[in-house]
Amino acid sequence: MAEAKELFIGFDVGGTSVKMGLFDKGGRLLGRNSVPTPPIVDEAGYAAVTDGVEELVTTAGFTLDQVVGIGLAVPCPVPADGKIRLQANIQLNEAGLKAALEKVCPNVTVQFANDANAAAMGELWAGSGRDYQNLVFVTLGTGVGGGVIVNRHLVAGAVGAGGEIGHMCMNPAETRVCGCGGKGHLEQYASATGIVTSYKAECAARGTEPVELEGPSDSRSVFAAAKSGDEAAWAAIDTMCDYLGRALAIISSVVDPEAFVLGGGTSNSSDMFLDRLVERYKSYALAVCTETPIEVASLGNDAGIFGAAYVALQAAGA
Ligand SMILES: [Zn+2]
Repeated sequence: MAEAKELFIGFDVGGTSVKMGLFDKGGRLLGRNSVPTPPIVDEAGYAAVTDGVEELVTTAGFTLDQVVGIGLAVPCPVPADGKIRLQANIQLNEAGLKAALEKVCPNVTVQFANDANAAAMGELWAGSGRDYQNLVFVTLGTGVGGGVIVNRHLVAGAVGAGGEIGHMCMNPAETRVCGCGGKGHLEQYASATGIVTSYKAECAARGTEPVELEGPSDSRSVFAAAKSGDEAAWAAIDTMCDYLGRALAIISSVVDPEAFVLGGGTSNSSDMFLDRLVERYKSYALAVCTETPIEVASLGNDAGIFGAAYVALQAAGA
């Protein structure tokens, strides 16, 4: 029998799977589990999730009454009050799921968070942001998301738009349309999809043939092309760095974080762009902000489960 302790579970609710991590108060990962994402709207859906929780906790040698916090990172905006108003990417009845989790874990506090916001909290709790109280996390994936943390707490916002860094309008002259319907948003230049789009445009302008790409978000091939001297690829990377550097400079004048942390798939290519990004950031930032470090996230795809658990820990007042 394991010793009595307070446990926290972080969920990362994605389109295909619900990942779960079991943690102690110190941020130690004690076990993990994953179930295919059901439509979380009825008893069968709730049961698929609670069965996963039961398996996670018992397999690690603990009991369900030791779970005092469950945090759920979900792919939709979550305002500071935790009440989800808009669901674009997932079928979820949050009140029903919350009730089902509370039934299985009698001592639990349940809290929802936006997935990018949760990833920011994960990096703060156990990743690259561990040394900070205030940071801004930017995830560079197929889209661009983020999380703003002030005094170790998320700035989720009144309607859940806190940290929606990807939809800052950086170029009012843009004619192409962003995934959200706007134009000229950061995501259109700094996401993996944006890098590929910029690369194709640079090739067309030069009359050169783009390298073979595996889909519209294959920025990895663009970075590989840059490495082998493709000028159009470098131009696309420069565009990304310029817009992202300017966005971070604007953010530094609003919340003045101790650090920026970059996550998402594109951050794996940071050796190719971080120097350029820092240079662009410094050129745009207020003089007092130019030394703010820009670091790379360390938890990878686990940031969501860590952060969701930490959000739950805070909500439980533990
Ligand atoms: Zn947008």
